[in-house]
Amino acid sequence: MPGTKELKRTLSATLREGLLSHAVLIEGEKGTGRKNLAIWLAKAILCKSENRPCGSCSVCRKIENNNHPDVEIFGGGGGARSFHIDEVREIKESIWLAPNESEQKVYILLDVENMTPEAQNALLKSLEEPPAHARFILTCENRRSLLDTIISRSTVYTLEPPTREECSAALRENFPELSEKDAEIFSIAYGGNFGAASKGFSEGTGEIVFLAAKTPELLKKGESYVLAAELSAKCKTRADFSEFLERLLNITGRCGIDRAAGKTTPVRVTPTEAVKTSEIIERGKLAVLQNCSLELIESWLSMELSRVFGGNL
Ligand SMILES: [Zn+2]
Repeated sequence: MPGTKELKRTLSATLREGLLSHAVLIEGEKGTGRKNLAIWLAKAILCKSENRPCGSCSVCRKIENNNHPDVEIFGGGGGARSFHIDEVREIKESIWLAPNESEQKVYILLDVENMTPEAQNALLKSLEEPPAHARFILTCENRRSLLDTIISRSTVYTLEPPTREECSAALRENFPELSEKDAEIFSIAYGGNFGAASKGFSEGTGEIVFLAAKTPELLKKGESYVLAAELSAKCKTRADFSEFLERLLNITGRCGIDRAAGKTTPVRVTPTEAVKTSEIIERGKLAVLQNCSLELIESWLSMELSRVFGGNL
Protein backbone atom coordinates (compact mmCIF):
# COMPACT_ATOMS: atom_id res chain seq x y z
CA MET A 1 0.00 0.00 0.00
CA PRO A 2 1.61 3.29 -1.06
CA GLY A 3 1.67 6.14 1.43
CA THR A 4 2.13 3.90 4.47
CA LYS A 5 5.88 3.38 4.08
CA GLU A 6 6.86 6.60 5.80
CA LEU A 7 4.48 6.02 8.69
CA LYS A 8 5.70 2.44 9.16
CA ARG A 9 9.25 3.76 9.51
CA THR A 10 8.14 6.27 12.13
CA LEU A 11 6.10 3.72 14.07
CA SER A 12 8.92 1.13 13.95
CA ALA A 13 11.40 3.63 15.35
CA THR A 14 9.00 4.78 18.07
CA LEU A 15 8.30 1.19 19.06
CA ARG A 16 12.01 0.30 19.11
CA GLU A 17 12.69 3.20 21.45
CA GLY A 18 9.86 2.04 23.70
CA LEU A 19 8.02 5.30 23.12
CA LEU A 20 4.91 4.05 21.38
CA SER A 21 1.81 5.32 23.14
CA HIS A 22 -0.52 2.67 24.56
CA ALA A 23 -3.29 4.24 22.45
CA VAL A 24 -2.56 4.96 18.79
CA LEU A 25 -5.12 6.57 16.52
CA ILE A 26 -4.55 6.09 12.78
CA GLU A 27 -6.38 8.72 10.78
CA GLY A 28 -6.80 8.56 7.01
CA GLU A 29 -9.24 8.59 4.14
CA LYS A 30 -10.94 5.39 3.08
CA GLY A 31 -8.65 3.37 0.84
CA THR A 32 -5.41 4.72 2.33
CA GLY A 33 -4.76 1.45 4.18
CA ARG A 34 -5.76 2.25 7.77
CA LYS A 35 -6.81 -1.30 8.64
CA ASN A 36 -3.72 -2.85 7.03
CA LEU A 37 -1.53 -0.47 8.97
CA ALA A 38 -3.35 -1.26 12.24
CA ILE A 39 -2.79 -4.98 11.68
CA TRP A 40 0.83 -4.37 10.71
CA LEU A 41 1.32 -2.42 13.96
CA ALA A 42 -0.28 -5.20 16.04
CA LYS A 43 2.26 -7.60 14.49
CA ALA A 44 5.09 -5.16 15.15
CA ILE A 45 4.06 -4.97 18.82
CA LEU A 46 3.78 -8.72 19.40
CA CYS A 47 6.34 -10.23 16.96
CA LYS A 48 9.49 -11.51 18.62
CA SER A 49 11.77 -11.51 15.58
CA GLU A 50 14.62 -9.10 15.14
CA ASN A 51 13.00 -7.14 12.31
CA ARG A 52 9.53 -6.59 13.65
CA PRO A 53 7.13 -7.47 12.18
CA CYS A 54 8.79 -10.32 10.30
CA GLY A 55 5.49 -11.37 8.72
CA SER A 56 6.40 -15.05 8.78
CA CYS A 57 6.57 -16.21 12.44
CA SER A 58 3.61 -17.90 14.07
CA VAL A 59 2.63 -14.67 15.87
CA CYS A 60 2.56 -12.66 12.63
CA ARG A 61 0.71 -15.39 10.79
CA LYS A 62 -1.91 -15.77 13.50
CA ILE A 63 -2.53 -12.03 13.49
CA GLU A 64 -2.74 -12.03 9.71
CA ASN A 65 -5.35 -14.80 9.86
CA ASN A 66 -7.20 -13.07 12.67
CA ASN A 67 -6.79 -15.97 15.08
CA HIS A 68 -4.27 -14.64 17.57
CA PRO A 69 -5.91 -14.88 21.01
CA ASP A 70 -4.34 -11.61 22.17
CA VAL A 71 -5.40 -9.47 19.24
CA GLU A 72 -9.04 -8.50 19.07
CA ILE A 73 -10.63 -6.51 16.29
CA PHE A 74 -13.80 -4.51 16.86
CA GLY A 75 -15.86 -2.28 14.55
CA GLY A 76 -15.23 -1.79 10.85
CA GLY A 77 -18.46 -3.46 9.85
CA GLY A 78 -20.99 -0.76 9.28
CA GLY A 79 -22.02 2.84 8.94
CA ALA A 80 -22.64 5.65 11.39
CA ARG A 81 -23.51 4.60 14.94
CA SER A 82 -22.92 0.94 14.12
CA PHE A 83 -20.25 0.58 16.81
CA HIS A 84 -22.16 0.02 20.03
CA ILE A 85 -21.49 0.30 23.73
CA ASP A 86 -21.91 -3.49 24.09
CA GLU A 87 -18.63 -3.99 22.25
CA VAL A 88 -16.89 -1.51 24.56
CA ARG A 89 -18.30 -3.42 27.56
CA GLU A 90 -16.80 -6.57 26.09
CA ILE A 91 -13.42 -4.84 25.91
CA LYS A 92 -13.72 -3.54 29.47
CA GLU A 93 -14.44 -7.03 30.75
CA SER A 94 -11.56 -8.76 29.00
CA ILE A 95 -8.93 -6.05 29.26
CA TRP A 96 -7.92 -6.90 32.84
CA LEU A 97 -7.41 -10.59 32.07
CA ALA A 98 -3.78 -11.50 31.45
CA PRO A 99 -2.71 -12.10 27.84
CA ASN A 100 -2.91 -15.70 26.60
CA GLU A 101 0.24 -16.28 24.56
CA SER A 102 2.01 -12.97 24.25
CA GLU A 103 3.13 -10.45 26.79
CA GLN A 104 0.64 -7.89 25.60
CA LYS A 105 -2.91 -7.68 24.32
CA VAL A 106 -3.81 -5.51 21.37
CA TYR A 107 -7.28 -4.12 20.82
CA ILE A 108 -7.85 -2.89 17.27
CA LEU A 109 -10.89 -0.62 17.01
CA LEU A 110 -11.77 0.17 13.40
CA ASP A 111 -13.69 3.23 12.18
CA VAL A 112 -14.21 4.66 15.64
CA GLU A 113 -16.17 7.57 14.13
CA ASN A 114 -18.97 5.01 13.89
CA MET A 115 -19.01 4.65 17.68
CA THR A 116 -22.04 6.09 19.35
CA PRO A 117 -21.12 8.93 21.78
CA GLU A 118 -22.08 6.58 24.65
CA ALA A 119 -19.64 3.99 23.34
CA GLN A 120 -16.88 6.62 23.00
CA ASN A 121 -17.52 7.80 26.55
CA ALA A 122 -17.47 4.25 27.86
CA LEU A 123 -14.11 3.70 26.18
CA LEU A 124 -12.45 6.73 27.79
CA LYS A 125 -11.54 5.10 31.10
CA SER A 126 -9.90 2.13 29.40
CA LEU A 127 -7.98 4.44 27.09
CA GLU A 128 -6.82 6.58 29.97
CA GLU A 129 -5.74 3.96 32.45
CA PRO A 130 -5.35 0.63 30.74
CA PRO A 131 -3.48 -2.22 32.44
CA ALA A 132 0.19 -2.28 31.46
CA HIS A 133 -0.34 -5.27 29.16
CA ALA A 134 -3.02 -3.59 27.01
CA ARG A 135 -2.62 -1.54 23.87
CA PHE A 136 -5.14 0.15 21.67
CA ILE A 137 -4.96 0.83 17.94
CA LEU A 138 -7.86 2.94 16.71
CA THR A 139 -8.61 3.96 13.14
CA CYS A 140 -10.83 6.74 11.85
CA GLU A 141 -11.39 8.76 8.72
CA ASN A 142 -11.19 12.14 10.38
CA ARG A 143 -10.32 12.91 13.97
CA ARG A 144 -12.74 15.83 14.01
CA SER A 145 -15.63 13.38 14.13
CA LEU A 146 -14.43 12.03 17.50
CA LEU A 147 -14.83 13.29 21.05
CA ASP A 148 -11.92 15.55 22.04
CA THR A 149 -11.35 13.35 25.06
CA ILE A 150 -10.68 10.34 22.82
CA ILE A 151 -8.16 12.30 20.76
CA SER A 152 -6.36 13.71 23.77
CA ARG A 153 -5.81 10.21 25.17
CA SER A 154 -4.30 8.90 21.93
CA THR A 155 -1.32 9.66 19.75
CA VAL A 156 -2.64 10.49 16.30
CA TYR A 157 -0.81 9.39 13.14
CA THR A 158 -2.21 10.63 9.85
CA LEU A 159 -2.00 8.53 6.71
CA GLU A 160 -1.54 10.86 3.79
CA PRO A 161 -3.16 9.71 0.56
CA PRO A 162 -0.52 8.67 -1.97
CA THR A 163 0.37 11.06 -4.76
CA ARG A 164 -1.06 10.23 -8.16
CA GLU A 165 2.36 8.97 -9.28
CA GLU A 166 2.62 6.66 -6.24
CA CYS A 167 -0.91 5.44 -6.88
CA SER A 168 -0.15 4.69 -10.57
CA ALA A 169 3.08 2.91 -9.68
CA ALA A 170 1.34 0.78 -7.04
CA LEU A 171 -1.43 -0.09 -9.49
CA ARG A 172 1.10 -1.30 -12.04
CA GLU A 173 2.84 -3.35 -9.38
CA ASN A 174 -0.44 -5.02 -8.42
CA PHE A 175 -1.88 -5.29 -11.92
CA PRO A 176 1.03 -5.74 -14.37
CA GLU A 177 -1.48 -5.97 -17.24
CA LEU A 178 -2.09 -2.21 -16.95
CA SER A 179 -0.01 -0.04 -19.26
CA GLU A 180 1.62 3.06 -17.82
CA LYS A 181 -0.97 5.32 -19.41
CA ASP A 182 -3.90 3.15 -18.31
CA ALA A 183 -2.59 3.04 -14.75
CA GLU A 184 -2.40 6.84 -14.80
CA ILE A 185 -5.96 7.08 -16.11
CA PHE A 186 -7.18 4.68 -13.41
CA SER A 187 -5.39 6.62 -10.75
CA ILE A 188 -6.95 9.90 -11.95
CA ALA A 189 -10.39 8.30 -12.30
CA TYR A 190 -10.31 7.34 -8.60
CA GLY A 191 -8.82 10.60 -7.36
CA GLY A 192 -5.46 8.97 -6.56
CA ASN A 193 -7.12 6.65 -4.02
CA PHE A 194 -5.22 3.40 -4.42
CA GLY A 195 -7.65 1.30 -2.36
CA ALA A 196 -10.65 2.44 -4.40
CA ALA A 197 -8.80 2.19 -7.72
CA SER A 198 -7.54 -1.34 -7.12
CA LYS A 199 -10.94 -2.45 -5.82
CA GLY A 200 -12.54 -0.95 -8.94
CA PHE A 201 -10.07 -2.66 -11.24
CA SER A 202 -10.50 -6.05 -9.53
CA GLU A 203 -14.26 -5.71 -9.75
CA GLY A 204 -14.12 -5.02 -13.48
CA THR A 205 -14.78 -1.27 -13.72
CA GLY A 206 -12.02 -1.05 -16.36
CA GLU A 207 -14.38 -0.83 -19.33
CA ILE A 208 -16.33 1.98 -17.67
CA VAL A 209 -13.20 3.89 -16.68
CA PHE A 210 -11.67 3.65 -20.15
CA LEU A 211 -14.95 4.67 -21.76
CA ALA A 212 -15.01 7.75 -19.51
CA ALA A 213 -11.40 8.50 -20.49
CA LYS A 214 -12.13 8.35 -24.20
CA THR A 215 -15.40 10.29 -23.97
CA PRO A 216 -13.91 13.76 -24.73
CA GLU A 217 -12.05 12.38 -27.75
CA LEU A 218 -15.13 10.60 -29.14
CA LEU A 219 -17.18 13.78 -28.86
CA LYS A 220 -14.51 15.94 -30.42
CA LYS A 221 -14.67 13.61 -33.40
CA GLY A 222 -18.44 14.16 -33.51
CA GLU A 223 -19.16 10.57 -32.49
CA SER A 224 -21.78 11.11 -29.82
CA TYR A 225 -23.75 8.18 -31.27
CA VAL A 226 -20.76 5.90 -30.55
CA LEU A 227 -20.72 7.17 -26.98
CA ALA A 228 -24.46 6.55 -26.59
CA ALA A 229 -24.10 3.02 -27.98
CA GLU A 230 -21.13 2.20 -25.75
CA LEU A 231 -22.89 3.62 -22.72
CA SER A 232 -25.90 1.42 -23.28
CA ALA A 233 -23.64 -1.60 -23.83
CA LYS A 234 -21.37 -1.03 -20.84
CA CYS A 235 -23.62 0.68 -18.32
CA LYS A 236 -26.60 -1.61 -18.03
CA THR A 237 -27.51 -0.66 -14.48
CA ARG A 238 -27.91 2.61 -12.65
CA ALA A 239 -24.93 1.66 -10.49
CA ASP A 240 -22.76 1.22 -13.63
CA PHE A 241 -23.92 4.54 -15.01
CA SER A 242 -23.31 6.33 -11.70
CA GLU A 243 -19.84 4.81 -11.69
CA PHE A 244 -19.30 6.18 -15.20
CA LEU A 245 -20.42 9.66 -14.11
CA GLU A 246 -18.09 9.66 -11.06
CA ARG A 247 -15.08 8.55 -13.08
CA LEU A 248 -15.81 11.02 -15.88
CA LEU A 249 -16.13 13.80 -13.30
CA ASN A 250 -12.74 12.94 -11.77
CA ILE A 251 -11.00 12.53 -15.13
CA THR A 252 -12.26 15.74 -16.72
CA GLY A 253 -11.89 17.72 -13.46
CA ARG A 254 -8.31 16.63 -12.82
CA CYS A 255 -7.17 16.90 -16.44
CA GLY A 256 -8.80 20.33 -16.74
CA ILE A 257 -6.95 21.59 -13.67
CA ASP A 258 -3.63 20.08 -14.76
CA ARG A 259 -4.08 21.46 -18.24
CA ALA A 260 -4.62 24.94 -16.75
CA ALA A 261 -1.35 24.50 -14.85
CA GLY A 262 0.42 23.69 -18.12
CA LYS A 263 0.93 19.99 -17.34
CA THR A 264 0.48 17.22 -19.87
CA THR A 265 -2.54 15.04 -19.24
CA PRO A 266 -3.54 11.60 -20.53
CA VAL A 267 -6.93 13.02 -21.60
CA ARG A 268 -7.21 16.36 -23.40
CA VAL A 269 -9.71 18.58 -21.57
CA THR A 270 -9.63 22.36 -21.22
CA PRO A 271 -10.57 23.95 -17.89
CA THR A 272 -13.77 25.37 -19.44
CA GLU A 273 -14.76 21.98 -20.80
CA ALA A 274 -14.16 20.50 -17.35
CA VAL A 275 -16.46 23.01 -15.66
CA LYS A 276 -19.24 22.54 -18.20
CA THR A 277 -18.89 18.77 -17.97
CA SER A 278 -19.23 18.84 -14.20
CA GLU A 279 -22.47 20.85 -14.48
CA ILE A 280 -23.91 18.28 -16.88
CA ILE A 281 -22.79 15.40 -14.69
CA GLU A 282 -24.57 16.94 -11.68
CA ARG A 283 -27.78 17.06 -13.72
CA GLY A 284 -27.17 13.50 -14.85
CA LYS A 285 -26.83 12.35 -11.25
CA LEU A 286 -30.16 13.97 -10.40
CA ALA A 287 -31.80 12.29 -13.37
CA VAL A 288 -30.50 8.91 -12.16
CA LEU A 289 -32.11 9.52 -8.77
CA GLN A 290 -35.38 10.59 -10.37
CA ASN A 291 -36.16 7.21 -11.88
CA CYS A 292 -35.99 8.35 -15.52
CA SER A 293 -35.25 5.59 -18.03
CA LEU A 294 -31.56 4.82 -18.07
CA GLU A 295 -31.47 4.64 -21.85
CA LEU A 296 -32.96 8.13 -22.09
CA ILE A 297 -30.47 9.59 -19.60
CA GLU A 298 -27.58 8.00 -21.47
CA SER A 299 -28.58 9.47 -24.81
CA TRP A 300 -29.37 12.81 -23.15
CA LEU A 301 -25.88 12.82 -21.61
CA SER A 302 -24.20 12.06 -24.96
CA MET A 303 -26.09 14.95 -26.57
CA GLU A 304 -25.34 17.44 -23.80
CA LEU A 305 -21.66 16.51 -23.64
CA SER A 306 -21.29 16.69 -27.40
CA ARG A 307 -22.24 20.39 -27.13
CA VAL A 308 -19.33 20.87 -24.72
CA PHE A 309 -16.74 19.02 -26.77
CA GLY A 310 -18.23 19.20 -30.26
CA GLY A 311 -16.26 21.07 -32.91
CA ASN A 312 -13.10 21.29 -30.78
CA LEU A 313 -11.05 19.31 -33.24
ZN1 LIG B 1 6.81 -12.10 13.27
